[in-house]
Amino acid sequence: MVAPPRPVFPKPQVKGTCRHCAQPLAPKDNPADALCHRPSCVTRRQIEAAADIGRRTLARDAAYLEVSRRRARPVLKAAAAAVGQPDLGQIAHGIAPRFDRPLVPLPDDRRAAFVAHLDMTLEESYAQADGIIRAPAQPEHDPDYITRRKEEQPEPVVVNASCIACQGECCLHGASRMAFIEVATINYVRWSRPDLTRDEIRDLYLSHIPETSTSDSCVYHGAFGCTLERNLRADICNRFQCRYRLALMEDYAKKPGHGAVVAGLSADHVDDPSAGAPYLRVVSVSEDHEVRVHDTLRLPGLRKGMPKF
Ligand code: SF4
Ligand code: SF4
Ligand SMILES: [Zn+2]
Repeated sequence: MVAPPRPVFPKPQVKGTCRHCAQPLAPKDNPADALCHRPSCVTRRQIEAAADIGRRTLARDAAYLEVSRRRARPVLKAAAAAVGQPDLGQIAHGIAPRFDRPLVPLPDDRRAAFVAHLDMTLEESYAQADGIIRAPAQPEHDPDYITRRKEEQPEPVVVNASCIACQGECCLHGASRMAFIEVATINYVRWSRPDLTRDEIRDLYLSHIPETSTSDSCVYHGAFGCTLERNLRADICNRFQCRYRLALMEDYAKKPGHGAVVAGLSADHVDDPSAGAPYLRVVSVSEDHEVRVHDTLRLPGLRKGMPKF
């Protein structure tokens, strides 16, 4: 029989000694901190400092979410009432980021950088598997959901309310990451569409770049979201769900059948306590997929007693 582990009790700390190694503190050590200068105790101090930063970040994040939820509640209630369900307890609802950048033509240098990346990725894919004697292997990851769709229930369309209210904050990361297109993405396209030539794949990607895209975001971040077909997107673009969208999905699982309402809030809304501050986009999606943007609703002021930052 394996003996149960013995409980470990912390050693009582003696005044003037290090609370980690129990060695005497040197004059150069800070007695308030009660950690000495020995290497393992210096490491200990760094670990504690990192944990402290982590705790403060989490606390700040929780406070932000709490303020955002409370501030958004009246507009969510109003939007829910406008679509015939005045009880928020009966309709899936939530907050989301609100992304608000202008649509601009893609600057020449960014287009050139993207084309260079695309060419290099095509080159690498065709160098690995030339398409004549070696075709790309079946991808382990499935950017087109084909494998996953066999196993998963399709997502309810109403959860798109999050992304419509948000307008693609996550796609910002696609700017520096070149739409996340990598060799595996191209290999997948080649594997799933063997009729396409290398030049046709290249043209296909270039043909999906919209005339205007969201400033400083992914080249495919158009006015109505991603302009790239799902089966040309990188795996991460098909898989990713932020916590706001996931939370809406969970709420919808508890309250199906009434659509969803979402308030998109700009991250800096907490810096402006005034009522009507322009940081809001409220969207509802009904069960039969009708999308409504409630643009007459105004953000309430930040009330006293809400969590501080
Ligand atoms: S997944 Fe999240 S961050 Fe991305 S567009 Fe949707 S709501 Fe916005
Ligand atoms: S390819 Fe589409 S989904 Fe992916 S980052 Fe760009 S705009 Fe977003
Ligand atoms: Zn020590």
